Amino acid sequence: MITFFPGPSRVYPQVAQWLQEAYQEGILSISHRSQRFNELSEKTITLLKQKLNIPADYCVLYTSSATENWEIISQSFAQKQTLHYYNGSFGERWYEYAKHILPATLGFSFGIQETIAVERIKQDITTDTEIICITQNETSNGTQWKLDKLQALRQAFPQQLIAVDTTSSMAGLALPFETADIWYASVQKCFGLPAGLGLLVLSPKAVAHGLQKDDGGRYNSFKKMYSNIKKWQTNYTPSVLHIYLLYKVLETMPTIQEVHQTVLSRAIAYKNAVQNATSIQLLIQNEEAISDTVIAVAATPSVIEKCKKEAKEVGILLGNGYGEWKENTFRIANFPALQDDEVALMLNLLKKW
Ligand SMILES: *Cc1c(COP(=O)(O)O)cnc(C)c1O
Repeated sequence: MITFFPGPSRVYPQVAQWLQEAYQEGILSISHRSQRFNELSEKTITLLKQKLNIPADYCVLYTSSATENWEIISQSFAQKQTLHYYNGSFGERWYEYAKHILPATLGFSFGIQETIAVERIKQDITTDTEIICITQNETSNGTQWKLDKLQALRQAFPQQLIAVDTTSSMAGLALPFETADIWYASVQKCFGLPAGLGLLVLSPKAVAHGLQKDDGGRYNSFKKMYSNIKKWQTNYTPSVLHIYLLYKVLETMPTIQEVHQTVLSRAIAYKNAVQNATSIQLLIQNEEAISDTVIAVAATPSVIEKCKKEAKEVGILLGNGYGEWKENTFRIANFPALQDDEVALMLNLLKKW
């Protein structure tokens, strides 16, 4: 079965071989305080920055998931209040985690066909707001903040930190890292790896904020993480296997500009196919709001059932709808690990529907 689920998602076919190699190279039992680990970790972070175009002065940390990053952001980078905009399940969950940690957290929901203007944020923000939090790609309903809008946000709010959930776009799109301070992802989406590793990318400004807050005594306290990563290490025993797999993926991956172009041209093909189909339609009609890495397709529940069944017959597993969209949508992961022939198979189905 070829899975088009947007996470956990299709892993790169080479993963099978890399797992074997990890075992043979004896990497699975190395100590996370050893020279060998330090070298693997250093070269992985160095290559990540190089391949994804992350500025040299940014800090990259290993965590265990995107969900964990939600907690770390409120616990380590804010004292009083973060400000959230959400239109789907992941953004909303981030807001809820944040509110649990900092009760003064502000959150505003918006419609799936809408976008949030800078002017609107100027009205909502307070003198206590330290971080503006946006879900760049909302995996649950296939919406996104266009990347070219981040620059305007940066210019309008030079004082606050800007945090961006890119769990389902990092390593798929060329992200403008210099326009925000906190970026994160987990590897089971666009990285094409099995779940179990999160990444947190921080600007020098975010690091400076983090060092001001006393967040000691916690599992992934930023201060502790920061002192460990200077030695390329983590606070806890990490999944060395995942770090190894991440290195391997990065090593084989083309430049992010090239990946970005592939993702965009496939996105256009998917959108055209759905728009030309008769029984299905795009859930997101607004060009400014529709995602490039997760395509949500809407239809009646019976058509959705039929599509899933027909897809299965040709070996394709469609992504289920999520949350309130469970019955009347399916989702197509437009992630780089999907191969050209698999994309062609998917497009043929869409054209038929
Ligand atoms: C998948 C996803 C998450 C959660 O990721 P975990 O690794 O399961 O914690 C958070 N945000 C978005 C946008 C996601 O797609």
